[in-house]
Amino acid sequence: MLAPGATIGILGGGQLGRMLSLAAAQLGYRVLIYSPETPSVAAEVSAGWCNDDWHDMAALTRFGDRCDVVTWEWENVPTAPLTALAPKLAAPVRALEVAQDRLQEKRFVAGLGGTPAPFVPVDTPADLDAALEQLGTPAILKTRRDGYDGKGQWRIGSRAEAAALDLPQVPLICEKQVEFEAEFSVLLVRSRTGDHRFWDSPHNVHRDGMLATSTLPAPACVTAQTGAARALAAQVADALDYVGVLTLEFFATLEGPVFNEMAPRVHNSGHWTIEGAATSQFDAHIRAICGLPAGDTRTVADRIALHNIIGPRLHEAHDWLSQPDTHLHLYGKKDALPGRKMGHVTRLWRGGTGGHRT
Ligand code: AMP
Repeated sequence: MLAPGATIGILGGGQLGRMLSLAAAQLGYRVLIYSPETPSVAAEVSAGWCNDDWHDMAALTRFGDRCDVVTWEWENVPTAPLTALAPKLAAPVRALEVAQDRLQEKRFVAGLGGTPAPFVPVDTPADLDAALEQLGTPAILKTRRDGYDGKGQWRIGSRAEAAALDLPQVPLICEKQVEFEAEFSVLLVRSRTGDHRFWDSPHNVHRDGMLATSTLPAPACVTAQTGAARALAAQVADALDYVGVLTLEFFATLEGPVFNEMAPRVHNSGHWTIEGAATSQFDAHIRAICGLPAGDTRTVADRIALHNIIGPRLHEAHDWLSQPDTHLHLYGKKDALPGRKMGHVTRLWRGGTGGHRT
């Protein structure tokens, strides 16, 4: 168990690091952020900051020397240099290696008995044509690495449409477009001794490939599938010897849960847990990596809605504050550019509260 006053290192400087840092501070820890990018919204609320390069092993070693434990908030951290601080990392680097490559990730989960959308690796236009012949259309072409929030994705309606595409010179993966009833995520926390706890699974709605809302309770088509999805998520966490919060995203289909992707970290669809659960995902992650008791993951409201505040919607965000049981989190980012996550709001309904705007 890490004593109060110990130092937690976080790799990555975005809003997830910011919310982890706030949770750590409440538990009496100091946080150091490692992030080459400036400004860092996580560094602004932390005790210290290193803005060296991801590939600077000497800087990573120095950072590790200043920390008692190191975690990450961004899954695309280059993994090779992390050997410099391997003894301090809370979870094995393998979790990042698997999650950084969509092909590896799907093969890994399929190897554990999960069902991903049918997929084919693609490197050339000829591969893409063959993939579409096999999978049919519509399909979705994605970069294997570095994609997020719908970036690095192309929806393909026909083989003719595919032939006209100017393919990027990076490894790709083509997936069958899944017909789903709803999307949901499994949020779990795994302790250093291998115990799992789950939060209720929210129903997630994406717009333009980016999460727009997460709501609870999820519809019956989701709750009927969370048992199987949780079992798979627990297997993934065990196979990776994972410590902390792990998220798996699924499509609820008529044939059962179809795995979409995993995030070896706290997740946007879990932000509602700050007010909507007895222990938030951020608190639970810090507890897990520090060896503290796990905490109670129970939902504490009858109904919950999380809305992301994207781009220029930031300018009307304070309007939410006039609503009852409504909790605003702004991330402190300066440029409210279209498609950028600027904050989120969580609305709770409990014991007959009402009067919220819709
Ligand atoms: P991803 O970055 O892979 O999570 O994709 C972002 C969003 O695009 C998902 O949450 C879905 O709404 C949609 N999407 C991605 N892959 C598929 C698929 N194979 N079938 C249907 N929808 C998909």
